[in-house]
Amino acid sequence: TSFAQLGLSAPILRALDELGYTTPTPIQAQAIPVVLEGGDLMAGAQTGTGKTAGFTLPLLERLNARRGSGRPVLRALILTPTRELAAQVEESVRQYGKHLPIRSMMMFGGVGMQPQIDALRRGVDILVATPGRLLDHMQQGHVDLSHVEVLVLDEADRMLDMGFIRDIRRVLAKLPAQRQNLLFSATFSDEIKALANGLLNAPRTVEV
Ligand code: AMP
Repeated sequence: TSFAQLGLSAPILRALDELGYTTPTPIQAQAIPVVLEGGDLMAGAQTGTGKTAGFTLPLLERLNARRGSGRPVLRALILTPTRELAAQVEESVRQYGKHLPIRSMMMFGGVGMQPQIDALRRGVDILVATPGRLLDHMQQGHVDLSHVEVLVLDEADRMLDMGFIRDIRRVLAKLPAQRQNLLFSATFSDEIKALANGLLNAPRTVEV
């Protein structure tokens, strides 16, 4: 399988070519078609498998296919357990989307709120966030989640281990009911399965 056969379009294929990616990894080959079709996904994948591109590539493809011409609207929310992971994921979005008119930002705690508020005001299509700081912005009315079409929980098992479940549930409560949900986790504990049961609609499961 090639990236072109998976249904990604020219601007993304060009970015992948520039990065020297030639062949999709197994998680990419399985996850990309599911995400492009708009279905929910439960993916079991460790770091190093190429899981990040497994969701960011089809996410960029979908958002670009139906992008308006005006100011960016927040349509995809990616939650991560740590600032380091948020930074890595957002860097991937930037690299893969470098030839697309899609704007992304990351937000996490421990740094000033104001630059994040300013960036939100300028408009973003894709927000990569840690749950606690996102809630702070939500509670202060800085972020509008009412147009979110796709939710990604990355390293969901680590988010639960770090005690983020209540924060996650408070974020979920503010998202439109009609949306696509992608859950990535290295392990499938009972707690993860319970979260997935409440979150995912008829999910496809892929494991590598
Ligand atoms: P991840 O598992 O998402 O943390 O990705 C692990 C590393 O693999 C990252 O440095 C990616 O840039 C790289 N990578 C992901 N997919 C591919 C691919 N299809 N070909 C070559 N490198 C890749």
